[in-house]
Amino acid sequence: MSTATRYTGLIEHYRDRMPVTADTRIISLGEGNTPLVRLENIPGAIGKDVELYVKYEGLNPTGSFKDRGMTMAVTRAVEEGSRAIICASTGNTSAAAAAYAARAGITAFVLIPEGKIALGKLAQAMIHGAVVIQIRGNFDAGMALVKEVADHAPVTIVNSINPYRLQGQKTAAFEIVDELGRAPDFHCLPVGNAGNITAHWIGYSEYAQHDSACVTTACAFCEGKCKFSGKSVTDKRPVMVGYQAAGSAPFMRGEMVDHPETVATAIRIGHPQSWDYAWKVKDESGGWFDECTDEEILAAQKLLTSREGIFCEPASATSVAGALRDIQSGKIPEGSSVVCTLTGHGLKDPDTAIKQCADTMLTVDAELGAVKDAILSNMS
Ligand SMILES: *Cc1c(COP(=O)(O)O)cnc(C)c1O
Repeated sequence: MSTATRYTGLIEHYRDRMPVTADTRIISLGEGNTPLVRLENIPGAIGKDVELYVKYEGLNPTGSFKDRGMTMAVTRAVEEGSRAIICASTGNTSAAAAAYAARAGITAFVLIPEGKIALGKLAQAMIHGAVVIQIRGNFDAGMALVKEVADHAPVTIVNSINPYRLQGQKTAAFEIVDELGRAPDFHCLPVGNAGNITAHWIGYSEYAQHDSACVTTACAFCEGKCKFSGKSVTDKRPVMVGYQAAGSAPFMRGEMVDHPETVATAIRIGHPQSWDYAWKVKDESGGWFDECTDEEILAAQKLLTSREGIFCEPASATSVAGALRDIQSGKIPEGSSVVCTLTGHGLKDPDTAIKQCADTMLTVDAELGAVKDAILSNMS
């Protein structure tokens, strides 16, 4: 007899920890269950003995971790009778919203900053049939507009201020603990709105059966009495470390930033929506925030592609750029286990990738001698 079970997405997989009932129609594209890849070459190259993993969230259905939140947010929106969803986006939220809305048969409205979204993300929002509204302003301006318009039109906001988003995204922490058999010592993430670092903390806390899972958003679903009591999976939670792009680092400045700039467009956010939660995560976990320059971010992206065969988008590489610096300085000590979240796939932003390597392409005549010369002079 076959015992095969098809993986049908993270809500089904973690059903008893998700805000759904037996009757809920689940809107899923098979998201979650992403690879946790141990880096084999980079730790040795920097001469440090660390157990360094990347959680490759770029392998979700639309190419970013946003799918984890979107399956839950759209499932609940549909259950509550909503016919349309809306979000402001630096790109990946709009791609996910567009795809899950298509799956559900509802309309997605997405507000994006004109000219500042990576090509792949724009293609996704458009081809899935979202109504794409470009605004002459940045993400923060779009977010403010979305909050306002949702008061005047029958649309459900699916940005990470929607608490179901974080409930979906907490499952990344579950997967890591399930796979390693324990929580890692450190968990490093890029920080934009800070929803994802908060969601991971909710997940780790819930698995450690710790109260702070409730203090953030889970209480909305269990009405003060934690439904997870007695279901502890791990006794430890990681130190949480959030890295920002230097031109877009409100957590480092200690205040909102009005004109954020960075090549890492997914974290080009000056007014983080989960500001208070993220400070709490830092304090409760004994973690810290730090910033990386665009040069460091692109160097880390290149290092991952050329030394490990892993292609993530610039924003995602911020986690590795920061972690490598803190490993080198000893702030993250040798012997530690470290997980870096690679939030989105490198194919999202082909322009930035090609720009970094344009001068490495060879062009030769279409004849044997020329191709042979090109090969022999480039053997390593
Ligand atoms: C959304 C996003 C982030 C930032 O996540 P927050 O929850 O806003 O902090 C980072 N990287 C990528 C690729 C993203 O799409």
